[in-house]
Amino acid sequence: MNTPVIGVLALQGDVREHLIALAAADAVARPVRRPEELAEVDALVLPGGESTTISKLAVLFGVMEPLRARVRDGMPVYGTCAGMIMLADKILDPRSGQETIGGIDMIVRRNAFGRQNESFEAAVDVRGVAGDPVEGVFIRAPWVESVGAGAEVLAEHEGHIVAVRQGNALATSFHPELTGDHRVHSLFVDMVRAYRTPESL
Ligand code: GLN
Repeated sequence: MNTPVIGVLALQGDVREHLIALAAADAVARPVRRPEELAEVDALVLPGGESTTISKLAVLFGVMEPLRARVRDGMPVYGTCAGMIMLADKILDPRSGQETIGGIDMIVRRNAFGRQNESFEAAVDVRGVAGDPVEGVFIRAPWVESVGAGAEVLAEHEGHIVAVRQGNALATSFHPELTGDHRVHSLFVDMVRAYRTPESL
């Protein structure tokens, strides 16, 4: 089977780490900034970084509406941390002018786990990831306050939702791209392959 081509939205954030993790998970990975580049990928990762900045740059680069359209059309998408915020249908305490792409029926609270110096690591059991818990790296991380009926909770940390999937959209509060453990990226690459190769064919 040919290899899926997965973009990483490269406006701001830890783009390089995701490109490396995706390549390790057997995808062809490339940065995406413009609508023409978005049109050429099978799926997209939204990296960690600063969601207000990513939001503003996405509007500036003219890629916000194309992103919404592709996510609506079912393109597989995976957001980590700031990327999770970008996938929320609703965020609490948005900065003024902050827009999201949306796609997951969830309410996300930015910086919920505290400030930069309260960043931490914790073992997280992620549904769909076999074996040991994943090492969750939380950096000024959001949590999910609540999810709608269509969204599935994949992981919690101390009673707070930290991983969610709805259809082809996956989001984690933490950063698997920083750990060298590529199992969450592999889960996403499997979602992309399943989408490209429906079992009915
Ligand atoms: N707190 C950041 C935001 O609001 C997210 C932090 C991160 O991606 N590590 O976008």
